[in-house]
Amino acid sequence: MKIKTLIIGWLYPELMNIYGDIGNIVALVKRCQWRDVRAEVKMLNPDFDYKQLDDCDLLLMGGAQDRQQTIVNNDLKRVKKYLKNKIDDGTPGLYVCGGFQFLGNYYKESDGTIVDGIGIFDLYTENPGGKSERLIGNMIFKPKVKGLTLPVVGFENHGGRTYLGKNIQPFGEVIVGFGNNGEDKTEGAIYKESFGTYAHGPILPKNPEFADYLITKALERKYNSKIELKPLDESLEEKARIAIAKRLGVNL
Ligand code: GLN
Repeated sequence: MKIKTLIIGWLYPELMNIYGDIGNIVALVKRCQWRDVRAEVKMLNPDFDYKQLDDCDLLLMGGAQDRQQTIVNNDLKRVKKYLKNKIDDGTPGLYVCGGFQFLGNYYKESDGTIVDGIGIFDLYTENPGGKSERLIGNMIFKPKVKGLTLPVVGFENHGGRTYLGKNIQPFGEVIVGFGNNGEDKTEGAIYKESFGTYAHGPILPKNPEFADYLITKALERKYNSKIELKPLDESLEEKARIAIAKRLGVNL
């Protein structure tokens, strides 16, 4: 059997990586290896050669505080067109918190500064600042995606409130926590196979069903054939999910 490979493009790992986001990379790499899929991670730091995006089968960007987001935003202007094409082309991806905000039209910082997004998700984010609280805590949401059956658990910490436009679907519905804005119960967004979410945690080790979903979509797209990943023992992850949900008053 020919070994399959998966190339993961990790966007701005040195700047966009908080609250355990690196765990998403570890989970993807390990879950590939356990299925004899060779996973390679490309670290795409500022000034990276945009041609490197061509080879990526799956993209990831984590979250950051506003200062790092401003630095990344300057570099994103340079590669925006290529990243947009890649996402539009159906390349699966996961974009967490600050990374998610970048895919929208803009992020308004608490002092009113506008940080442009790449405008591929029909949404915008505003940080009211002042006396408004940051939206912090463990969260649970119900994904609205065919193929994802389990509630997703995560941890959120953001000042920005994201509002979805008409042309974008939420990733899920908030069961516990704040999600996009603490008001409308929407969490994250989906465009083609790209997912935006406020769930750090990190989300993929905590929610192996979602990790496998992304791996499967990326391999199916690359190899143009149906992929059935070998099931893995997820009893520990399941116990952890049930324990945190119980603490939040939810029986999974
Ligand atoms: N700076 C953004 C906010 O506070 C993103 C934070 C994050 O990525 N955790 O809204």
